[in-house]
Amino acid sequence: MMRILFWVALIVLVIAAIRSKIRGKLRDMTPPPGQPGPGARAHPIRELGATIECAHCHVYFPESEAVTADGRAYCSSEHAHQPHRPG
Ligand SMILES: [Zn+2]
Repeated sequence: MMRILFWVALIVLVIAAIRSKIRGKLRDMTPPPGQPGPGARAHPIRELGATIECAHCHVYFPESEAVTADGRAYCSSEHAHQPHRPG
């Protein structure tokens, strides 16, 4: 009976060792920071902080990238030079 318990314990240890090895390999395969990997699906705009709406195309974008013209904020300099679209 003790022999069976010994073998069961040995098999469990081997499976645990193989599983930890596989997990280590998967960690090596994950892309480096900067590239979106599996599980990294956070909203990109939320990470950048405050967002404002472009007065021309009404797209929300980070406030740090805003181009201001005539007191309005635009997503790009091209939109800043185009007339305001109501609505
Ligand atoms: Zn725009």
